[in-house]
Order: sequence, then structure tokens, then C-alpha cells
Amino acid sequence: MVDLNKDIQYLKGIGPNRKLLFNRLGIYTVNDLITYFPRGYEDRSSFKTISELIEGDTVCVKVETTSKVKSIRTRNRLMIYKLLVKDNTGVITCIWFNNKYVENIKAEHEYIMYGKVTRQGNELVITQPEYEEVNVNNKTGRIVPVYSLTEKMNQNILRKEISIALEVVIKDIEETMPEYILEQYDLADIKFALQNIHFPEKDESFFYARYRLVFEELLHLQLMLLLLKNGVKNREKGIVFKNVSTDEILNQLAFTLTNAQTRVLEEIFKDMESDKCMNRLLQGDVGSGKTIVAGISMFKAVKNGYQCVLMAPTAILAAQHYDTLKNIYVSIGVKCGLLIGSTPKKEKEKILEDLKNGNIDILIGTHAIIEDNVVFKNLGLVITDEQHRFGVRQRSKLSAKAQNVDILIMTATPIPRTLGLILYGDMDISVIDELPPGRKKIDTFAITKDKEERLNKFIVKNVQEGKQVYIVCALIEESESIIAKSLNERYEYYSSVLNECRIAVLHGRMKNTEKTAVMNDFKNGDIDVLISTTVIEVGVDVPNATLMVIENAERFGLAQLHQLRGRVGRGSDKSYCILKYDSSSILVKQRMNVMEKTNNGFEISEKDLELRGPGDFFGVNQHGLPDFKIANLFTDMNVLKIVQEIAFKILAKDKNLEAEENMLLKKAIYAKYKGKLEL
Ligand code: ADP
Ligand code: MG
Repeated sequence: MVDLNKDIQYLKGIGPNRKLLFNRLGIYTVNDLITYFPRGYEDRSSFKTISELIEGDTVCVKVETTSKVKSIRTRNRLMIYKLLVKDNTGVITCIWFNNKYVENIKAEHEYIMYGKVTRQGNELVITQPEYEEVNVNNKTGRIVPVYSLTEKMNQNILRKEISIALEVVIKDIEETMPEYILEQYDLADIKFALQNIHFPEKDESFFYARYRLVFEELLHLQLMLLLLKNGVKNREKGIVFKNVSTDEILNQLAFTLTNAQTRVLEEIFKDMESDKCMNRLLQGDVGSGKTIVAGISMFKAVKNGYQCVLMAPTAILAAQHYDTLKNIYVSIGVKCGLLIGSTPKKEKEKILEDLKNGNIDILIGTHAIIEDNVVFKNLGLVITDEQHRFGVRQRSKLSAKAQNVDILIMTATPIPRTLGLILYGDMDISVIDELPPGRKKIDTFAITKDKEERLNKFIVKNVQEGKQVYIVCALIEESESIIAKSLNERYEYYSSVLNECRIAVLHGRMKNTEKTAVMNDFKNGDIDVLISTTVIEVGVDVPNATLMVIENAERFGLAQLHQLRGRVGRGSDKSYCILKYDSSSILVKQRMNVMEKTNNGFEISEKDLELRGPGDFFGVNQHGLPDFKIANLFTDMNVLKIVQEIAFKILAKDKNLEAEENMLLKKAIYAKYKGKLEL
């Protein structure tokens, strides 16, 4: 029996040098090799005769060579190789450039040629065809896999080695999917799947094989995520909130709700009024008005006699929510309190006391408020404004603490539908897909260093007009000293080029009191230019800030850039976002281009996913979503839905995957995600 974890060098044809080429593709073991799935296929299963060839077709023809290749050196030292081939319907010339290997093609010998038919003068030729002797192996005359390559690796080596590997190990490959699932969902067995994903005999075998592998990949991922979240949350019996009029709070607003806000509130109300716990995700682009939706939902709970919690990821944001909502609540008799790290001890004690005896209806704060020894009299609704800051893990902590209450999670990360399903599969989703009226497009420009001077003049001009500016630096909030140093460097730089501007620095590792002080100065217009890390990403609202400059924009995820950009354009003045980037990569240019072109968060997130893959989607890989080997989040939506239901069913019966029948699943998942997600 062959150990699939054996080094690939064990295979015939792979020596120490070639092994390194495979390693570069991430292939180390025999198992890596046979699960290195094709990125596409060429259909070489049907042959044409020479007389049938049409310009532009990519074809497979069985021919006989008339001679050896003839080489011609052109004036610009290009080598051209020509070879006349024939079958019993006619003759045609094959042409190669700079490929001396074709000199090995034998004369008067049968070959299969696979390539594109083009026209040269008034003659048809086959350019750069792949070729092989008839009846030697399996490259042509069938559907042929095409793999992603790196330098020096070529399709033929990969095809050959995968074919060798399969031949050696296929009989020993053990099934990885429980029998009952294979049967119930009519899936191909593992041997068939692996064989046919690489070398499908016909279209149907490929589809059958691929379906099984996609199914398996998505099932593993889904089960892993659910296990991480402590299993499927069975909807517990929850509070049945009564329907109350919201006119009182709506009359307090300076605006009318958008249609999207109204619709989303109806969805939330329906959940609240049902006898099951609400478990809803509210998605809405930056500035779409989620805060007031939260505010009205909490109003409903309070009118029903319950207390609420609104949690924000940072103290700044919590304070801002408090300011916004307090003004609305105060005149309608709803009492709210703010509890953050910097709340003085005395005040804190008073708040805790008031919570316990029901003198506070709504508590706003950071996550600490649910973990601390905070006791509620009658908690009914918990809202988290998580802005994508928190992962799957923190969320499970929350649901453990707040039993049987309704839960609403708000996020500003527009998640493509498929990703949403994967990450929040057990939640209902509402989307605010409309911005309040009168928002102006934020003009976005991506620039490189040579335009820096012009940008600096533009910044000064804005400040002279009384506007304010954000400058965001791409620093991971790792260590205070590094952040301080880098931000200081930027501070010095901008101080020297921005004449007479009042500049300040803000980062997440500063003391809360310092942060709040700086933010307040900025809000009050006492600071013109705020240089910061991404701490300002989360929800500050300064309508007079109309210009956002992002340094090293290439280091951010698009979704994150979009979030940052949402900090400007909050007032009536035209706003700008300048993305400074430093890279010549085409991918980076494409991504910057997406930002210039659209202001639609969902479009941006779809593009981001498409350009970078799910692993990178959240910037610094926040959710730990792996890249897929075979599943495609755009085209495999239907499989995902099926698989998700199955995953729920499995875990509903077998919470920790301990049943005998699920051993294979458990083994596979633990092996696959070991380390990555510390299951
Ligand atoms: P986000 O969804 O990013 O949290 P906010 O709730 O902070 O958005 O709202 C952004 C701004 O839009 C706030 O100043 C808010 O008062 C305003 N706003 C919210 N809803 C409306 C509306 N229907 N019409 C006009 N302005 C609104
Ligand atoms: Mg918000």
C-alpha cells in the first residue's frame, strides 16, 4: 500500500531538481499532486481531417509527417520551424517558433497535432501545435487537463506525473466520504473522482467527478465553520415582542427612512414578534443608515419593557452611537447609558446599578459590556455593530452569554452572496441596498509617487477652503513603537510639505482618552489633517472632512478601501478619495481601477473576490477562509446551498461529529484545517 503522504520524489520521473519545480506549485507529497486539480480542459476528443480545417479553429488532427522539420532563421534572429504533414484528405504546414525540441519529430511517422488553424498569405497553417506520437500516451484523442504553471514547469510534465501517480496509488486510495452520503446524494466515489477530474473519459464523467469534489470541499469547509461556532444554533424559544407604534421615534428624525431601511425594519420586527430568537445579519454599505435602524429596533424592545445592548468594536464608535441616539431618545423618555474603558469608576458603578434595577433601558459600549460583570434586569435585544471587525469566534462568545435574547449583527462589509452563505450560514440576512438621498459620488483617483506634489497642493487647497482631510496609513496595529515611528515619519513629512495646516496623529494603541481628545478636536474643526491608521475606518462621522488620502493603498483589501472611503462624503460638499499606491503589478492596477470606477460596495466585494480569491478577501485574512482547490464561489452556488443544508442536518444529529458514520468526515476536516484554525 502506498502512503499518499510520501514525497513526490518517490515517483518515477521526479528527481531532486524537478522536485523543486513541483514544490514551487505547493506540491510536496503524492497526495498534493493528485489533488492539484486542472484549471481547465482542452477537448481533444474529436479529430478533424485536414480538409475540414477552418481558420480560427483549435483542432486535433491525426497526420503523417512528410519529413523532418525545416528551420529558418529570420533577420531578427527568430527561429521558425516548418513541417509539412498529410492525411488522406490533404496536406497542411505546421509552424513553431523558437522551439528546437520539434527537431526531434520523426520523419514519415504518425503524429497527433493539436493547435490553432491560422492563415498565412493564402495558405492555412497550424501554429505552434502540441504534438505526440500516435498511441503512446494520453495527451490527445481525449479531454486533456490544463494546469496552472509556474516558470519552467510545463503541462506535459504535470500531466505525465499526475498520470503516473494515479496509476501507482489509485487502487489504494481510501474513500473519504461516508457511505451514506455517497449513496444519498449520488456522488462519485473517490477513485472515480480523482481519475476523472484529471483525465475524464467524456464530459459526463468530468461533471460527475467534479461535482463530488466540489461537494466534498464545500461540505468540509461548512462543517468546520459550524464546529467553530459551536455547532448549529437551534433557534431557541425567544421573547415575543408585541407590535408597537414607532411614530414617536420616527417623528424625532430629521429625515424620512429610505425604502430599504423601512423594509429591513419590517424584517427585523417580524423576527422580534415571532416566538423564535432572532439571529439576523444586517448588511449595509457605509453610510446606508444602519445606526438608526438599530435605534428604532431597540425602541421597540424598550417599549415592550426590555433592555437592549448596542456594542461597537471601538470606544470612539460607541461614543458616537451614543451621541447620535441619546439625542433622539432623550425627548421620548428612553434612557441610555454609555460604558467604555475610559468611563470613570464612579460613573461606571452608577451605570451598573441602574442597569440592574432597570433605570437604564439601553446600554451602549464596546464588547466589554457583555463580558464584564454587567447584570441586566431584563435584557431582550443585543445588537452588535461589528463592521467586519470580529470573526466567527467572538460571535459564539456572545451567544453563550446572551441566552434566549434576540440578536442583530450589523456589518458594513458587503459580502458577496456566496461568502455570506458560508460565513453566516445559520443567520437570516437583511440588506440595506440603498443610500439616503442626496449622497454625492466620491471621486476616486489612484496615483503613484510622481503625482505626490500635486496631491500635496490639493490637500493644502482643501484646507484653505476650510475642509478637513484624513490621511490613512497601512499599518498593522502590531506594536505601539512601530506604529508610532511610522506615523511620526509621515507626520514629519506632511508637516514639512503642508504649510500652515494643523496636523495630528491617531492610532489604535493610544490611550482611549487621548484618542477621544484627538477625535473631538477633529470633529470640532481644530485639526485640519488627521494622520491615522485604520482606526478611523470604524464609523466616525465628520461631515466637513471631504478628502481622504490612503497611503500604500495596494496593501488594503478593496472592501476595506471602500470602508475607509466611506468616511468622507458625509456632508453636502463634493468629496474625494486619493489612493496612493506603489506597485507595478497589473493586479494592483486592476484593483485600483475598480475603486475608481464604482462606489457600489457589493460590486467592489464581488470584484475583490474575483481578483484575489476568498483567502485574501478580508484584507489580512481575517476570517481564515482558505482558498478553494476546486469549488468556485461564483458558479457553485447551488452546490453550496445543498451542502449547507446537509451540514446543518449532520450537526443537528451529531453535534461534535462523534458518530461512527461521520468518522471519515471528522478525520478529513481535522487533517485539512489542523493548525490553520486551531479546531
Ligand atoms: P452606517 O450604515 O455606515 O452606520 P449611519 O447610520 O452612520 O450609517 O448613517 C450615516 C448618516 O446618514 C448619518 O449621519 C445618518 O444620520 C444619516 N441617515 C441615516 N438614514 C438616513 C435617511 N433615511 N435619510 C437621510 N439621512 C440618513
Ligand atoms: Mg455605522
